[in-house]
Amino acid sequence: MADQDSINCTTHGDSVTTYVCQHLIRGENQDWYCAEPDEEKPWPDSWCGKCHEHFAKEGEWNDVSEQAADITNNVSILCNHCYEQIRSTCHVHYI
Ligand SMILES: [Zn+2]
Ligand SMILES: [Zn+2]
Repeated sequence: MADQDSINCTTHGDSVTTYVCQHLIRGENQDWYCAEPDEEKPWPDSWCGKCHEHFAKEGEWNDVSEQAADITNNVSILCNHCYEQIRSTCHVHYI
């Protein structure tokens, strides 16, 4: 937990910061893609099926895929509890 950013969620209080694309947050897309969680990153950055098309084309997040998916404008921060709530409503795909 050493260098994880914290966030003060209005619902959950002091929590860990996570990064999720807005399509998942708004419920526009329910295919959840992320790396497999591990001890170091229990809540890895996540994105939806629509964003994943850009990821899949490049095979990774790089300048091309990030720009195509407009990732800088598309990703929002959530607390880890909100993250888990949304994830539980989605089809989770580990990459
Ligand atoms: Zn998305
Ligand atoms: Zn929260």
